[in-house]
Amino acid sequence: MINVLEQRRAQIHRKGESTAPLVCDRKSVAGSVTQRACAFCGSRVVLYPIADALHVVHGPIGCAAYNWDIRGALSSGPQLHRNSFSTDLQELEVIYGGEKKLKQSLGELIDHYRPKAAFVYSTCIVGVIGDDVEAVCRQVSREKGIDVIPVASEGFRGTKKTGYQAACEAAYKLVGTGDTSSIGPCGINILGDFNIAGESWLIRRYFEEAGIEVVATITGDGRVDDLRRCHGAKLNLVQCSGSMTHLAKLLERDHAIPMRRVSFFGIEDTAAALYEAAKFFDDPGVLERTQVLVNREVGRVYPELKRYRAILEGKKAALYVGGAFKAFSLVKALKLLGMKTVLAGTQTGSPEDYALLREICDDGTVIVDDSNPVELAKFILELDPDLFIGGVKERPIAYKLGVGFCDHNHERKIPLAGFEGMLHFAREVHASVMSPVWQFVPRRAARAVGQPTRTPPTPVNHPAHAPGDGGRPASIDGALHVNSED
Ligand code: SF4
Repeated sequence: MINVLEQRRAQIHRKGESTAPLVCDRKSVAGSVTQRACAFCGSRVVLYPIADALHVVHGPIGCAAYNWDIRGALSSGPQLHRNSFSTDLQELEVIYGGEKKLKQSLGELIDHYRPKAAFVYSTCIVGVIGDDVEAVCRQVSREKGIDVIPVASEGFRGTKKTGYQAACEAAYKLVGTGDTSSIGPCGINILGDFNIAGESWLIRRYFEEAGIEVVATITGDGRVDDLRRCHGAKLNLVQCSGSMTHLAKLLERDHAIPMRRVSFFGIEDTAAALYEAAKFFDDPGVLERTQVLVNREVGRVYPELKRYRAILEGKKAALYVGGAFKAFSLVKALKLLGMKTVLAGTQTGSPEDYALLREICDDGTVIVDDSNPVELAKFILELDPDLFIGGVKERPIAYKLGVGFCDHNHERKIPLAGFEGMLHFAREVHASVMSPVWQFVPRRAARAVGQPTRTPPTPVNHPAHAPGDGGRPASIDGALHVNSED
């Protein structure tokens, strides 16, 4: 019997049992061992994919090791971001201050790597001893002639979301310093895709085909110069709203660039995101090319998705992710595959996010904010899903409890965004849920008794395109809506 901490009860809802709003957006309860990372980690994951910048962690080596290459974000050029430089503060610096060491480290690294800019992350101990990181950054910036930007990311400052905000503030220092004269009339920025497995490239291809210029992908496959000129775009598309809304709001406030929240996970949301941009520009050519692209891509992936749906129909999934927008898209994508979401949780959802999540989930779905491993284990045991979708911290929970796992976070190597991403997702879900290994897990095997339709793994071929079933489908059993008029 696993119990939920008394102070956390209001952060958990079971749809259909209560209409009160879910309590969220607050500090984690002490001792609950939250799944959230610290503010420093929040900053680091957001800025990390800027590949031609130097990222220096001012603090003990443990902080730098903790999130070294954490996202595995891909770069089409420089790879400097994949290093984790640290000032490796020791007892002596904790007593006498670490400014001297920081200045020396920055000097050596800038001389050696010649980065376009440098970000300096403050960790907990730096906040405790009171190093004047800003002053050191100003001085090094003057001496070396590049932007050296402090990131106010002391781990204890707040939640991971506080770190996101600090990262946005730091990145914004570069915005507005570049030349925008070469940017065309249909320019957009994509905020909140981190190019973990090449998603930014895939999305960029879609827009380019539609005739929309992607000025900056922030921060997936990011570049310092792109950030400098991103204020020349006409529209900001924000995917990871938890991490990037603050930057989008700054761009809206100072450069009058409107923002739209979008998602590139799932067929419906990808199509909606493409149409959102196409309609914004009010250019018939752009809209027509977008329609052609959506029709072609849906026609390409639809037949195979239909086959997966026939096998996965009725299976149950649990998901726990960082941002709410990903949760919305996953619930819809699972629905498209005939699966029911029995647990949906996020680390950083807002009251509006949870209201929407409740709307799209079925009755009985457990909705949880800022959960912890014990709670998640409790719900997995109780709800008995066939699949758990999460990140690196949720993986061991799934494995220990004998549940199939799908990584939808930092560690994946196959892109799950866009139309072909949906196909990759369906293949992965199918492979995990239908794996023959479950017959050796006593709890799963016992459940399968008397349910012969669920147990035998059904072989499915994985053609990129199934012949004879092309054309644009209106829906998969009525579940898919990708019309431009939607
Ligand atoms: S910044 Fe603080 S909370 Fe974050 S990893 Fe370092 S010591 Fe831990």
